Amino acid sequence: MATLSLQHIDKIYDNNVQAVYDFNLDVKDGELIVLVGPSGCGKSTTLRMVAGLEDISNGKLLLDGRDITQTPAKDRDMAMVFQSYALYGHMTIYENMAFSLTLRKENPNVIHKKVLAAAEVLGLTSQLNKKPAQLSGGQRQRVAMGRSIVRNPKVFLFDEPLSNLDAKLRGATRREILLLHKRLQATMLYVTHDQTEALTLADRIVCMSMGHVQQVGTPLELYDSPNNIFVASFIGLPPMNFFDVKVGEGKLEGKGFSVKLDAEEQKRLAAYKGKEITLGVRPEDIVEGPDIPALVTTNENLGMNTLVHGNITAPDAPAQKIVAKLKGWANYKNGDTVKFSFQRKHFFDKETTNAIRGEG
Ligand code: ADP
Repeated sequence: MATLSLQHIDKIYDNNVQAVYDFNLDVKDGELIVLVGPSGCGKSTTLRMVAGLEDISNGKLLLDGRDITQTPAKDRDMAMVFQSYALYGHMTIYENMAFSLTLRKENPNVIHKKVLAAAEVLGLTSQLNKKPAQLSGGQRQRVAMGRSIVRNPKVFLFDEPLSNLDAKLRGATRREILLLHKRLQATMLYVTHDQTEALTLADRIVCMSMGHVQQVGTPLELYDSPNNIFVASFIGLPPMNFFDVKVGEGKLEGKGFSVKLDAEEQKRLAAYKGKEITLGVRPEDIVEGPDIPALVTTNENLGMNTLVHGNITAPDAPAQKIVAKLKGWANYKNGDTVKFSFQRKHFFDKETTNAIRGEG
């Protein structure tokens, strides 16, 4: 059993750089939380404060309800897996996995049992007598996880554990981490800049920008109903399209196009009539249809889908880029005219960049 509570946590480094502002999160027992955001947004700093590798400038950290804000890293009962595996090259896989327990002078029989059990979970049983250099990158990453598992920590912390792996191995190792999480039922905090990892792994995602939490929610909540333009553009690939539009009578007037609003959308936008807003449309919510003419620039066939990139042009405005992810195989050529319709629309306040949800 391990719950974590991060309460009003700030991090101000010695050089007065504030890396984290008022971070609040309650992690449930057995939950896999992914902290995601672009490089420099404060993810690692947050993880390192939880690990005890960085001081917490303001706020409180509770583990199972107990205040551990001032507890040294070694007494926190957490294990961290880094992107560099940092295995000892001269030791066997067995010795690498046993190392922390040997240091603690645990009973050799207990160590043996724990290493074998962890190797079993990770599919490393046949590799135990090998040296790290004889293993693939993915296997080495598993050994690094094995070193954490044998310690049976309360909380697992992962700092970009997959970023040194090639794309194929990343996918495979990601699925192993999911299975591992299912088997161990452990509380995990996982840092990545990769939105795909966040969507595929997380029970809940914490999306950060410039030290501030932008949204906390399930992958579907962040994908379906992003809090603001930052989250909308960060989650989803290719990113959401954005257009400046004016809210007209039953329709949105863009530059070079207009789209109808249904009754629900009109209600949501009631307070914005006559005003400019930002319209967001995911590439996968665009279909071929009568509403929006665009000039094709490139046509990328992905097999199941085609990415059609183009420009919406209007006499009095700069070209607006648009990318659609159409189902199946399309064969547009550079310069072709394509016509699109938007299936699902997201609305954002132009000034605050917050989602317009229309409550109240
Ligand atoms: P992320 O993990 O999201 O890439 P970090 O947590 O590493 O971001 O960094 C957040 C911010 O804190 C960045 O602006 C970074 O330059 C700054 N920072 C990180 N470590 C230190 C440090 N030891 N001293 C001063 N500033 C730091």
